[in-house]
Amino acid sequence: MTTIKKDFIELVSFLEENKEKKVKTILPTIINMVEAKRGRTPSPECWVDDTLIGKYCTYHDKWEPISQFRQDNEGKYPSVCLFGSRARAKAAAAKKASEAALLEKVVSGEVSVEDLPAEKAAIDEQAATVVFDDKAQYFDIKDDLREYFYSEHGLRDSV
Ligand SMILES: [Zn+2]
Repeated sequence: MTTIKKDFIELVSFLEENKEKKVKTILPTIINMVEAKRGRTPSPECWVDDTLIGKYCTYHDKWEPISQFRQDNEGKYPSVCLFGSRARAKAAAAKKASEAALLEKVVSGEVSVEDLPAEKAAIDEQAATVVFDDKAQYFDIKDDLREYFYSEHGLRDSV
């Protein structure tokens, strides 16, 4: 019997159960399984010598100083900054509330069924809007984050 790496047991048994099916029909499920694993990979880090000075935030798609991230219980930094994870949670809650309100409006007749897709799209767009913190620092490129770190710490201002 072959030994299967723990991470792939679920995927392999799913494929075995569905081996008679067309790939196209089971592909979305496979992608979901693989993405869940990928989601655990930490985002890129920015180091200066032995100091972790920042990370790439996957919510803002920007480089941010490490002070904008909060360590978890194991001392690891997440891939999304603290402001970003709060903004995302807030947006998810607002979306849920808006969707519930919209359904009520459809039931009461205030919104017609025909208008539902447009109303729903507006809610989704609102929820997908990335919010930035005025007081935070965001950098498009890693080197600019390094420059910021140097200037903040009175180190070399240019490399
Ligand atoms: Zn962020």
